Amino acid sequence: MIYADYNGSAPLSNEVRQYLLKRFDKGPFANPNAIHYLGVKTLMGMENARSACAKVLGADFDQIIFNSGATEGISTVFHSVLSNENQKKIIIISGIEHSAVTNTAHYYASRGFIVKTLPVNSDGRVDLECFAQWLKLETGNIAMVAIMAANNETGVIQPYQEINTLCLEDNIPFLCDTTQYIGKTPFNFKESNLDYAVCSGHKLGAMTGTGILLVKNPEKLNPLIIGGGQEKGHRGGTQNYLGNETLAVALATIEKNFDNISALTKKRMEFEAALKLAFPCVVIIGEKAPRLATTTYISYPGIHGQAVQIELESLDIFVTTSSACSDNMPITSKVLKAMGISDDIGRGVVRISLCLNSPLEYYDQLTDALIKSYRKLNKVNSF
Ligand code: PLP
Repeated sequence: MIYADYNGSAPLSNEVRQYLLKRFDKGPFANPNAIHYLGVKTLMGMENARSACAKVLGADFDQIIFNSGATEGISTVFHSVLSNENQKKIIIISGIEHSAVTNTAHYYASRGFIVKTLPVNSDGRVDLECFAQWLKLETGNIAMVAIMAANNETGVIQPYQEINTLCLEDNIPFLCDTTQYIGKTPFNFKESNLDYAVCSGHKLGAMTGTGILLVKNPEKLNPLIIGGGQEKGHRGGTQNYLGNETLAVALATIEKNFDNISALTKKRMEFEAALKLAFPCVVIIGEKAPRLATTTYISYPGIHGQAVQIELESLDIFVTTSSACSDNMPITSKVLKAMGISDDIGRGVVRISLCLNSPLEYYDQLTDALIKSYRKLNKVNSF
């Protein structure tokens, strides 16, 4: 079996599983905010986890706010920045943001803000020149910017550092959606100098329903969930302490796998080259752009991605197409549309996303399986 949908969700990592098995036997299980012995012990476990997460992510202990995942982190930042008496009305996002950003921005549009959507080029990178122009044009009117570090479909890495530099010059709050970036490439929050970054436990091999909001100045954060003052008043509700402990285990495991990035990138490129050699019409989306080591978004124009997905599934290989289905007709995703990709290519995509410790041989098996599937489906198509 090859699980190749890590950008969708990562299975619980082996280290996390081992940790939990021992942890379940050992306890304690108490409210980390209680002042009795078991509560304090539970709190100590969770705070140790916070400090371990801070170390891997290059953040201060206080800059780590545990929550339920990236969507919550993103909503919290929008709420925090936009709920102040904000005279500035413009929110800048890009055309390839995840719905966690896009839909939140549009919610604020319904409350009087103006959403401006940055174009992306055919490689799937946001248009930096256009961004710089908008900053000049709208000086003093921009309430916040929300742009991702790496795209979930294409794996294309965005010029988020350049965007951050421009935002810092104009003192504009910048939320960088680092959901796909953290865990797949080294990241240091302090060195990035970002205002806000997010991460999601289920993308890292930690328990689902966990996450971290990274905040440069937590004292200025306006909480979305008020509750009983947990997380130093930044996020109410009894913490998911077990889940938060798994975040620390998963992040420490990932850190050890960063050494695999160059071998994986090389193997991924060989895999893509082999498919292009076998089928010259095959398109690798974002091929020329810097991409995450573990993501390939591939299309055989004229063969529906969903048909390829089913073929691969019959070979025990799990990928996604990430195109929605309307009246049984696969439609090109909004990310690919923003890149100006034709429907012929857009309907044909499958996303192959592995993790940093996936065996390199997976790419050999994926090559064979895709060649087999494309050959079979090509015959069916030509009847
Ligand atoms: N942002 C990006 C880029 C994502 O890929 C995802 C999940 O796929 C999210 C945000 C939302 O993450 P979650 O559903 O874990 O809250």
